[in-house]
Amino acid sequence: MDYKIPFNKPFIVGKELYYVAQSVLQQQISGDGPYTKKVQQLLQEKFGAAQILLTNSCTAALELAAILSGIGGIIVPVHYAGIACEMDSILDLAQKHRILVVEDAAQGVNAKYKGRFLGTLGDIGAYSFHETKNFICGEGGAIVLNKREFTERAEIVREKGTNRSRFFRGQVDKYSWVDIGSSFLMSDILAAFLFAQIENMDLITARRRRTHEHYASMLRPLEVRGLLSLPAVPPGCEPNYHIFFVILNSLSERSRLIEHLKANGILAVFHYVPLHTSQMGQSMGYREGMLPVTERLSERLLRLPVYYEMGEEEVTFVSNAILEFFKLPPS
Ligand SMILES: *Cc1c(COP(=O)(O)O)cnc(C)c1O
Repeated sequence: MDYKIPFNKPFIVGKELYYVAQSVLQQQISGDGPYTKKVQQLLQEKFGAAQILLTNSCTAALELAAILSGIGGIIVPVHYAGIACEMDSILDLAQKHRILVVEDAAQGVNAKYKGRFLGTLGDIGAYSFHETKNFICGEGGAIVLNKREFTERAEIVREKGTNRSRFFRGQVDKYSWVDIGSSFLMSDILAAFLFAQIENMDLITARRRRTHEHYASMLRPLEVRGLLSLPAVPPGCEPNYHIFFVILNSLSERSRLIEHLKANGILAVFHYVPLHTSQMGQSMGYREGMLPVTERLSERLLRLPVYYEMGEEEVTFVSNAILEFFKLPPS
């Protein structure tokens, strides 16, 4: 079905297609080409990270992080919706028990916690540039290395377990296999597309912020009446406005609201099934009821459409449909 207001929409903000054409014309379209280097450098400078390497997905970056940290005990905070986890407490706990922190900042690119960018607070961070995220190239990600001790091995594991990166820098005269690894590189065609998005990161964030603020002001009357709750941003967190979600009062109300929005040509969607209740979670011995807070929230959370090109008119249209569902006058 074609929706009048889709949930998400891939977009172009600047020179994406020009850079893609450049990349092809320069005949360097595999990994670690000129656009990969440009994106990595821009991200490193802006975020203040020791090293950032592009990968073919955030999942690949997390797998790379798992190899680098040797697993054992690690904490993986997920910055849901681009709003930071309570990093001070998490980092304190990790330090006390000498365990590594790998931030899943897939949704948190360009968001901050107490003035620092997400992904740079733990030992390692992971970003996503998947089509559904804030800054996109179709499929893509990056690993953020905040400790020098990981940088050399990360290059090797990311390059199939070879010292090919050292070879290209002229540090060894032939490359060979020196470790375990896989192929975690991003094609330079995608890096070219991504470069235009990274150049416009603050513009993209500012537009998403306007959308969020407009939703919040239009839906406030519903929150005041206790009909739903809006996302709350804790002090010290500077979000990137990745997801605009509302929490309804019950699962059945959420289902009815989704249907009502659908009838109006609007696609709004719920989110993750809690891992411990998934088939995989159950096969590992977890059961429903074990994490009651997670379960209660996940069955009542609804994500509203947010995309770069969304204007005030579309936000008003969606908000009025929600006001109508709760029998409140439009505004
Ligand atoms: C999107 C997402 C991922 C996976 O990102 P890919 O780039 O698609 O692999 C991982 N964690 C979270 C929290 C995400 O939102």
